[in-house]
Amino acid sequence: MIPEYVDFHAHLDLYPDLQEAIRSCDKRKTATLAVTTTPLAFKRNHELASSSKFVRVGVGLHPQLVEERYGEIELFEKILPQTRYVGEVGLDAGPRFYRSLDLQKQVFERVLRLCASSKDKVLSVHSVRATKAVLDLVEKHLPQDRGRVVLHWFTGSVAEVRRAVALGCYFSVNEQMLSSPNGLKVTSAIPTNRLLTETDGPFVLREKAPIPAGDVRRAISLLGNVLSIDDHAAGRIVRSNLKAMLQD
Ligand code: MN
Repeated sequence: MIPEYVDFHAHLDLYPDLQEAIRSCDKRKTATLAVTTTPLAFKRNHELASSSKFVRVGVGLHPQLVEERYGEIELFEKILPQTRYVGEVGLDAGPRFYRSLDLQKQVFERVLRLCASSKDKVLSVHSVRATKAVLDLVEKHLPQDRGRVVLHWFTGSVAEVRRAVALGCYFSVNEQMLSSPNGLKVTSAIPTNRLLTETDGPFVLREKAPIPAGDVRRAISLLGNVLSIDDHAAGRIVRSNLKAMLQD
């Protein structure tokens, strides 16, 4: 089935009804990466998405949960062979999570090493206030020919965009990012062939309500504005980027 849209970072299991969220992505023909925040959550997502044409499930260990859940890295390792996709993983050095940063780095390094040894993984990576540390670890432990990193909601500098591009990274951008001056600046610096879209639903709000699952139309339209092209052309670029990324 050929997708119409791409949502490369969504928390479908945090919508009120996971099954309904999966259906919503299928109905829209949105190729969706359903990220999970703990390895324990993988099984149910995987089961419910097993008959979906457009939803794929990642095994994750969210940096904001590492302090309580780092022990689940063993389960992460066990699940990893069942999926090509990994996320949400990464680092968060914001004030609420700074104290677990060392532990987060250990866990993220382990994740990257495990992915490097299985070779074809695609990772959705969180890098809040930790862009440099994320790129340092990716550079060291997940060489380009060993896996693919998609930086989700990237908030680093333009120089860091260039560094990430040189490391082979892609970027998934959402409508909130594309509505902020800094997000627009970052997005303009990303090469067109490295751009993907995401909702980050249900966390990103539109008129105070979560974005419907798999609805990236506004992100596509805002991205089109950045690239000075229409929505159809923007959609085509994102679809072909996803295809290229998954094939190489
Ligand atoms: Mn997320």
